[in-house]
Amino acid sequence: MNFFVIKKRHLCLILCAILLLVGLGTYFGLTAQAYQPNLSPTVVIDAGHGGRDGGAVGRKTGVTESQINLQYAQTLKEILQSFGVNVVMTRTDLNGLYSPFAANKKKDDMQKRKQIIDESGADLVVSVHMNAFPRSSTRGAQAFYAMENSSGAELAQSVQKQLQNVSQYAHSVAKQGDYYILNCTSLPGVLVEFGFLSNAEEESLLIESTYRQSMCEAVAMGILNFYQM
Ligand SMILES: [Zn+2]
Repeated sequence: MNFFVIKKRHLCLILCAILLLVGLGTYFGLTAQAYQPNLSPTVVIDAGHGGRDGGAVGRKTGVTESQINLQYAQTLKEILQSFGVNVVMTRTDLNGLYSPFAANKKKDDMQKRKQIIDESGADLVVSVHMNAFPRSSTRGAQAFYAMENSSGAELAQSVQKQLQNVSQYAHSVAKQGDYYILNCTSLPGVLVEFGFLSNAEEESLLIESTYRQSMCEAVAMGILNFYQM
């Protein structure tokens, strides 16, 4: 009888020890997982305009900004993905994001883009645009950031620096800009105006695939440097 009690006590101790070990293992396993650094950032790439909103128009070829933006967005996506970056696109075809029944299609389109950013769990946003200006001599790529978004300013400057390596006409500093796509989120964001479709020479460059590749590589490098990857 006495012997049996001791054996039962031993059994209890062994069971408690097993439970404790399993418990500690699970705890430390989960903790280690939870504190793993985010090695694969997520970037939202927003191809500006689309559908009935073509954006700027090429003075020489009549190409629409919305078409070129999509090509640049897709090239940028491929480059970033090759570096292990997760990419979420706001649009993947020539259509706008607005509902055909929306009374204010531009507003609806922009709100849909905001919704995609909000639901993406992304680390930053890049919006792709082409510029235009009445004076045809104006040219040069420029990166913009939202007011009071210091990390956005840092990101935009990192991108601007890389654009300068590709184009001698690229501006030397990123600029603050009042854009909904940047203002609608607290994430660091950069809106890149890759060049002016109102400048004949720059328009010819912008529609070239090799120039597109170089400019998108520059933007990708700017993003990766911002992450210090
Ligand atoms: Zn635009």
